[in-house]
Amino acid sequence: MNIALIAHDAQKNGMIALARDYLELLRRHRLVATGTTGARLCAELGLAVECLRSGPLGGDLQIGARLADGAIDLVIFLRDPMTAQPHEPDISALLRACDVHDVACATNIATARRLLDSVRAAAG
Ligand code: PGA
Repeated sequence: MNIALIAHDAQKNGMIALARDYLELLRRHRLVATGTTGARLCAELGLAVECLRSGPLGGDLQIGARLADGAIDLVIFLRDPMTAQPHEPDISALLRACDVHDVACATNIATARRLLDSVRAAAG
């Protein structure tokens, strides 16, 4: 599967912890991430991640464009619900693209775990 990973700053440690818990599963899929999230996943966990632009610099939109082309199967987008983001329109656009194209999107860790568990179960 093609899995997109995005975490706002306050959620980045949570993303690292999540990815560590699912490391072997994630290694078997093609990963793409916004810049800083991807860099941390590479550096701290040794995951092979294609790093796009940072979210505020267009990374969310790049992921949204790929998704619209059918090249993203699952999105884990750990948003910070407590902090206004300068690129709120980009965030909304990506979430809308997930809904338009019916792509599973987890916006919190509990849902992300459920989705990754289902990916693992589907793999047998
Ligand atoms: P980042 O982008 O991974 O480059 O921090 C995430 C975001 O803020 O949307």
